[in-house]
Amino acid sequence: MSTNAELFERACRSIPGGVNSPVRAFRSVGGTPRFVARAQGPYFWDAEDKRYIDYIGSWGPAILGHAHPAVVKAVQDAAVHGLSYGAPTEAEIEIAELLIERLPSMEQVRLVSSGTEATMSAIRLARGATGRNKIVKFEGCYHGHADSLLVKAGSGLLTFGNPTSAGVPAEFVSHTIVLDYNDSNAVREAFNTHGKDIACVIVEPMAGNMNLVKPVPGFLETLRELCTKHGAVLVFDEVMTGFRVGPRGVQGITGVTPDLTTLAKVIGGGMPIGAFGGRADIMANIAPLGGVYQAGTLSGNPVAVAAGIKTLELLGEPGFYDKLGAQTRKLTEGLTERAKHHGIAFSADSEGGMFGIYFAANVPKSLNDVSASDIDRFKKFFHGMLDHGVYFAPSAYEAGFVSAMHDDSVIDATIIAADSVFKSLA
Ligand SMILES: *Cc1c(COP(=O)(O)O)cnc(C)c1O
Repeated sequence: MSTNAELFERACRSIPGGVNSPVRAFRSVGGTPRFVARAQGPYFWDAEDKRYIDYIGSWGPAILGHAHPAVVKAVQDAAVHGLSYGAPTEAEIEIAELLIERLPSMEQVRLVSSGTEATMSAIRLARGATGRNKIVKFEGCYHGHADSLLVKAGSGLLTFGNPTSAGVPAEFVSHTIVLDYNDSNAVREAFNTHGKDIACVIVEPMAGNMNLVKPVPGFLETLRELCTKHGAVLVFDEVMTGFRVGPRGVQGITGVTPDLTTLAKVIGGGMPIGAFGGRADIMANIAPLGGVYQAGTLSGNPVAVAAGIKTLELLGEPGFYDKLGAQTRKLTEGLTERAKHHGIAFSADSEGGMFGIYFAANVPKSLNDVSASDIDRFKKFFHGMLDHGVYFAPSAYEAGFVSAMHDDSVIDATIIAADSVFKSLA
């Protein structure tokens, strides 16, 4: 049996940094990544057969818990009929109908294979449909790794952004305006200056990629009002929040209706899938109907679609989200109570099965707020919990996820572990 350290060393020889997605490498917390051998329900086991309570759930998809028997069976049943056809199937219609039925804004939907592909395609579509070039995004929101989205704010307000990745020419982000999350006035100013050129505003309507940061009242409403007034497309990136925070996404909770929505993560139940959809008049611009090109060899993959349909079916059971939300609150309230007991500045927030924990007295409203929290203390907390067999996201800038399999005994065990870690940090 290889140890995690041995596997990491071996991985680093054949895979850059030893991982296939950077956050897995533990760079922001230090230490050795855990190599997963298997997972079941709320747990996974690493290469050394140590068990962890898992609060990342594949970064969101594992909302039913790992290896849910009904989802695994759906995958097995689909697989024996062939892994991919490159021709349409009835199951693709079924999942499209399910998504349209559940999301208030969605009239038509197209499947892709990842969240990155969904947002990239939605932005191309918004540009194609409006004939405009500029897009607005917010600091701290992540929309996948397409070139024009790997950008941070420039030095002055309303300047265009700077690339956050090597390999992205400055020209590629020169049409991307980056504003502070929850800053309605900045958006108003951007529209006053560039209104005729803005193709779309893309936003995580509840941000989960700078830890969990909720929209302040009026923020999403302002985006809706300004996009409507100026003829821009409002894109809700619900890749993380879709079917995670509630049965109808953030749009169902806030009542703010986007023109386009992007999805992934939960809708594949752990298999690679993504989707973008919305107003039929906008979707009519996509090939083969319109001039905006978009395609994919594995789009609508039958095995992924089978996992997605089964997952969505199970999420539709009455009371599912009430229970999930209650378990998540039990976790965040328990952690907050224990931290207070030990005199540690700590706060937490949650929505449905998604949560944020912050080593800060108040819940953050922006990326700056998150950065001002005690990141060093978070790192110590992370490693303390890891030692106790509890796996939180290995970064203070990531949200956490609870599944339907995180029952009272799992939450209680987490809080008992946290109590002793908080004590050591006090
Ligand atoms: C995860 C995520 C993406 C990217 O999805 P991938 O499947 O990793 O490409 C895009 N937007 C948001 C909000 C996400 O959370």
